[in-house]
Amino acid sequence: MKNKFDALIVGAGQIGGALANLLLKLNWKVGAIDTQTTVGPGKHDSPIVCAINLQSKDLLNTIGIWNQIPKEFIGEFKNMAVKDATGGGKIEFNGDSLGYPSLGNIVSNRAITHLLRQKFTQNGGKLISPAKIKTVKKLAHDWQITLEDDTILTTKLLIAADGANSFIRSQLKIDLWENSYDQIAFVTTLKTEKPHQNTCRQWFHPHSILAFLPMNDPNYVSIVWSVDKNEAQQQKKLTHEEIAKQLSVLSAFELGKVEVASQIYSRPLKMRHVKSYIDEGFALVGDAAHTIHPLAGQGVNLGFRDVTNLFEILKEAKDKGRDAAAIDTLRKYERSRKGDTWTLIATMEAFKQGFVNNNEWLATIRSLGLDITDKLDLLKKFFTYQACKRF
Ligand SMILES: Cc1cc2nc3c(=O)[nH]c(=O)nc-3n(C[C@H](O)[C@H](O)[C@H](O)COP(=O)(O)OP(=O)(O)OC[C@H]3O[C@@H](n4cnc5c(N)ncnc54)[C@H](O)[C@@H]3O)c2cc1C
Repeated sequence: MKNKFDALIVGAGQIGGALANLLLKLNWKVGAIDTQTTVGPGKHDSPIVCAINLQSKDLLNTIGIWNQIPKEFIGEFKNMAVKDATGGGKIEFNGDSLGYPSLGNIVSNRAITHLLRQKFTQNGGKLISPAKIKTVKKLAHDWQITLEDDTILTTKLLIAADGANSFIRSQLKIDLWENSYDQIAFVTTLKTEKPHQNTCRQWFHPHSILAFLPMNDPNYVSIVWSVDKNEAQQQKKLTHEEIAKQLSVLSAFELGKVEVASQIYSRPLKMRHVKSYIDEGFALVGDAAHTIHPLAGQGVNLGFRDVTNLFEILKEAKDKGRDAAAIDTLRKYERSRKGDTWTLIATMEAFKQGFVNNNEWLATIRSLGLDITDKLDLLKKFFTYQACKRF
């Protein structure tokens, strides 16, 4: 039957696209459905980027797309500088001093997604896009998906990779822990007066966190500016010139005056974590399963770890002749992911609570703490570990 799959992935973004490619290696019939088609990014029109760690780079290399990403869409960071703007404390380090010449890359989300989809179809995967799902139904042994044009698809294994507001998650009424970070993230590209010198910079202010992520061009950075909700309503009314002035001040003119060089996107920030990652013949991956604060740039890396773990567990089951879609197999995946995700959620919470607070004495203590940690190799190793850990 043409529309019968071994695995069907809903959502062919970075996470769904990566998993779809790996599952083809099991010689399965794999389909991926997405509401949106993709095009590759243009020069500076794609400010939505992710800091990709070495582990995620290895995964994209295994899939065979890393070397295909056009150079203009890959920035590299070799240094990190985190500053507490109120208390004056700072952590600064470079990869070289820790034995890592590169701490990671800044890559356009659109470039990765586009290449993953291309590779998937080249290798025999079926991409169904643009397509909208009407219903999802559990049959005795399979899942049945009906599209809006009444096409019926069936699959033994259904994967939800349809992002933070997952349609599949809500259709299947999967419970989640959810908590607003009470901030809005603004994302854009800035042209800077001085070169970024391959440094990721972050400033903690009482009501916002500003991150500069170095792009391939030495005078361009992609930024994530997480602003407290009430303040953010004011920022939304400002012109690009007014925003640029504020950002030059908030970044202490470290890269001189900045100019807004692309559209500005905004998104409310929420912590989400599903109470269950699996069911019989079903699993959630990526933002459909969890979202965290972007302050440490770890969301997509966490999702790529879901992909790697799930793939290894499915492969092992297949190699041993076991039912890969069975709940006992999928339970191993859930066990492998929950702890990792909770650890990152708790770490992000501690950072945010510890820094974004307009309290004078707390600022002094913070600053003391940060100055001390500057000398503590251990904390630097923690940051480096997130950037450079490999399987
Ligand atoms: C401001 C900000 C900055 C960030 N920076 C970083 C960073 O530096 N480093 C990092 O690691 N992470 C970062 N993240 C997190 C990262 O962007 C996400 O974790 C990652 O993009 C999630 O990928 P995904 O494929 O799970 O979801 P998405 O990228 O949301 O993809 C979901 C896909 O599903 C499709 N879809 C949606 N609904 C349906 C439906 N009903 N049917 C079919 N298809 C559907 C969508 O079209 C899309 O293609 C950041 C997040 C934010 C908000």
